[in-house]
Amino acid sequence: MEWYDRHRRDLPWRAAAGTVPDPYRVWLSEVMLQQTTVQAAGPYYARFLARFPSIEALAAADESAVLRAWAGLGYYARARNLHACARRVATSGGFPRTLDGLRALPGIGAYTARAIGAIAFGVPVLAVDGNVERVLCRLGAITTPLPAAKKNVAALAARLEATRAVEARPGDAVQAMFDLGASICGKGEPACVLCPWQRHCAARAAGMAGQLPARAAKPARPIRHGVAFRLTDSTGRVLLRKRPAKGLLGGMDELPGTPWRDSAWNEAEAMTFAPHPAGWRDVGEVRHVFTHFELRLTVYAAEGDAGADMRHPDQAALPSVMRKCLEGGGRRKERLF
Ligand code: SF4
Repeated sequence: MEWYDRHRRDLPWRAAAGTVPDPYRVWLSEVMLQQTTVQAAGPYYARFLARFPSIEALAAADESAVLRAWAGLGYYARARNLHACARRVATSGGFPRTLDGLRALPGIGAYTARAIGAIAFGVPVLAVDGNVERVLCRLGAITTPLPAAKKNVAALAARLEATRAVEARPGDAVQAMFDLGASICGKGEPACVLCPWQRHCAARAAGMAGQLPARAAKPARPIRHGVAFRLTDSTGRVLLRKRPAKGLLGGMDELPGTPWRDSAWNEAEAMTFAPHPAGWRDVGEVRHVFTHFELRLTVYAAEGDAGADMRHPDQAALPSVMRKCLEGGGRRKERLF
């Protein structure tokens, strides 16, 4: 706690020392940070908060406005759940203050419930994210590879929860662990000489801190192939369609195209999916890495007017992969806007 009081990070969503955190901000930041780095989330958080300054404002918004504000952050089920959660919380007059109550809300799993519970409501628990997992593997010299080591990590976290620091200042204890894992005990070789735990750390004593955490080898990411059709008009509008509400990029806008499959598409096959008769030409390939596969999209472009389904890209909720398709392809670059 002494180390945290001196070295705590100043983060946009973090309440100033000694002040009471706003549960809306804590929840919003924790959902954003579920799959996004602090650096990437910062500007989105500021824009999102300016657009939806309170849970009531978010609850009153259209889902499409929420998806637009989230566009580019990825994992779009988070945005839909965020909106559903805001409606639930606004109707019931505020966030529940218990872990069980928080977990019952859309988009809040065990980790997020603990982070919000500790930071916003002082529930004496720790929240173990990737950074904290690394710190604990080192602190306890846990050599079992992750993810099998998760239960050892949870056991060590439970022991720490019984300490005075967590009981007295749970929110700060959680955030101190986040900060330790994001700085001194970061990925790669940790800076143990600066660490407040150096005398208690089993990995440091054993000279193995830089080798932990151990991780089981990940299977190679499969590659999937598709074709996207980019029809634009002279005013910069583009033909778009909405993806199904459920599943990957659910509810987001996209260029029309073929399904995505394991084998590449040839032109004749792909053209049966062209949304509009036009002089289509291959303008290159876009590659995008999702958690479970890499997508390779061949982009075909043409000019024309398909009427009401044409929209300006700024009015759409476009995921990053579709932004890349609008900007051209890897082999031959063309910028649309
Ligand atoms: S002593 Fe080193 S390895 Fe151990 S917790 Fe501190 S920074 Fe991490």
